[in-house]
Amino acid sequence: MAGPVLFVLDEDPSVLDVLLSDLDRRFGNDFTVKGDSSPKAALVTLGAMAKRGEAVALLLVEDKQTDFLTRAHELHPQAKRVLLVDRDYSSSSPAVQAMALGRADYHIVRPWSDDEMMYGAMSEYLAAWTREQEPNFELFRIVADDGDPRLPQLRDVMSRFSMPFGVYPAGGATGRRLLAEAGLDATSLPAVISHDGQVMVDPGLTELARAVGVNVKNDIETCEVAIVGAGPAGLTAAVNASSEGLETVMLEQAISGGQAGTSPLIRNYPGFPHGISGGVLMERTCEQAWLMGTHIVFAQQAVGLERRGDCRVVHLLDGTEVSARTVVIATGIEWRRLGVPAVEALLGAGVFYGAAVSESRAMQGEDVYVVGAGNSAGQATLNLARHARTVTLLVRGDSYATSMSSYLVREIESTSNITVRRCTEVVDGGGNGRLERLTLADRARDTVEEVPAAALFIMIGGEPHTQWLPDDIVRDPQGYVVTGREVLEQPGVPWNGGADPLPLETSMPGVFAAGDVRQGSIKRVASAVGEGATVVRLVHEYLRTAAPV
Ligand SMILES: Cc1cc2nc3c(=O)[nH]c(=O)nc-3n(C[C@H](O)[C@H](O)[C@H](O)COP(=O)(O)OP(=O)(O)OC[C@H]3O[C@@H](n4cnc5c(N)ncnc54)[C@H](O)[C@@H]3O)c2cc1C
Repeated sequence: MAGPVLFVLDEDPSVLDVLLSDLDRRFGNDFTVKGDSSPKAALVTLGAMAKRGEAVALLLVEDKQTDFLTRAHELHPQAKRVLLVDRDYSSSSPAVQAMALGRADYHIVRPWSDDEMMYGAMSEYLAAWTREQEPNFELFRIVADDGDPRLPQLRDVMSRFSMPFGVYPAGGATGRRLLAEAGLDATSLPAVISHDGQVMVDPGLTELARAVGVNVKNDIETCEVAIVGAGPAGLTAAVNASSEGLETVMLEQAISGGQAGTSPLIRNYPGFPHGISGGVLMERTCEQAWLMGTHIVFAQQAVGLERRGDCRVVHLLDGTEVSARTVVIATGIEWRRLGVPAVEALLGAGVFYGAAVSESRAMQGEDVYVVGAGNSAGQATLNLARHARTVTLLVRGDSYATSMSSYLVREIESTSNITVRRCTEVVDGGGNGRLERLTLADRARDTVEEVPAAALFIMIGGEPHTQWLPDDIVRDPQGYVVTGREVLEQPGVPWNGGADPLPLETSMPGVFAAGDVRQGSIKRVASAVGEGATVVRLVHEYLRTAAPV
């Protein structure tokens, strides 16, 4: 049976032959390997394949052929684009611009001295393509009305735990059949039906997490380190603490990954030249923490923290508590709200805070809007532009170049289905049960306009998750946790920890903060990871000098 196609363009027929036979030898069982040495002929072939509905998984093209790659990708938008490049480490290499402008997904350096290295890279690119295709096997089937506001959370949980799933409209033939087989009717929505027949009606996070099979109840009463929050800072602290022999419990109010887990592509994390999906990076770190020995509890919110003698006690929403010698607060931030009631009312029904990775594909062919001027808004805009018909980035100020990385600004300005509207704010919105229109105020022209809109992604910064902390953990006026020597500079804060606070230590001795939640933090994945690793070294230092319990 002919599988999805790996298509190669190389103008040197002898190189092309070698490539085709190498690829066929390794991947020929699962994929059809084709190629051409003429760009013109290759486009004709690819056009005919598009008409026949043949899937192309990879387009492998010499780096000087970026125009060809753009046209080939228009014919096969799902294909991953791989550039064959000469490595010269110069900033003028065509590969640098192609990657920065989003005109290629990956590169392979030629000549490769090691076939296995090339095959390894190809396997990774093919795995990325396969992950984006509709799953053949669905572990969970979700039946819901179109625009059900609870759908985004269901999709998010399934995506973040890598559960293959499908969503079926309750009114469609499959949806009706699934409901009937489960003994349900259209009043029991959304329904989640697992492959083994287990049925959940409108499940909460805890029920979903249980169905996925993860731990939602803490059964460890005492430990050396309790980490609150499983984003990059908390997960890295967990990997390091457990690997260094500290008995570690990690408490997460939702599912692991934090903000980073919602980022479709993190391009600035070291070691991943083509970028990495935040979800994948966080899932791997979570597995690593677990395999190092961290006891991870999901869907369990920390609601209080107190000092009890030499122990620090974290109180959980289910009424239980964990007593730890040290605590790491890694609870990150919550997105700031837009403050337009009509739009807030449609939260989850076309209105989203942050860029939910799982929502992007659902935007196919739609006109969507993004509010914000930072890197998150920029990345969301570019990711949505791969699926939506048009994406409009709404920027409140008259420029976004100062708040967004220049590589994102360049990429946005060179993507044809993206429009940027400066000095523009969302002032109203509405729709019949889901977002259908937005009202935009142009502050420079003093005009108001109603536009059709299928979705709005709001990415305007946030507030730290620190409301659960007691008053003796000092915070700045924005709510960020103050750490290190700055604790001593706060008016009226009695420091009773002996020597000066350690870096990352809060005003409660033995309690540390790491990542976005900390005053002065850099709000980047790598910075959160750095603090997560650093904090463990400081925990050791604290434990060495603190009285034994
Ligand atoms: C869409 C998006 C794209 C981004 N893209 C990039 C990028 O490309 N590059 C980059 O460097 N950075 C990026 N960032 C920023 C980056 O994700 C954050 O800086 C990073 O995630 C911060 O990590 P953290 O561990 O401090 O906090 P978070 O990732 O926010 O994790 C905090 C965790 O704590 C949990 N929590 C909160 N309160 C409680 C409680 N009371 N009890 C238990 N658990 C709790 C939360 O559920 C969450 O899982 C992006 C952010 C977003 C939202």
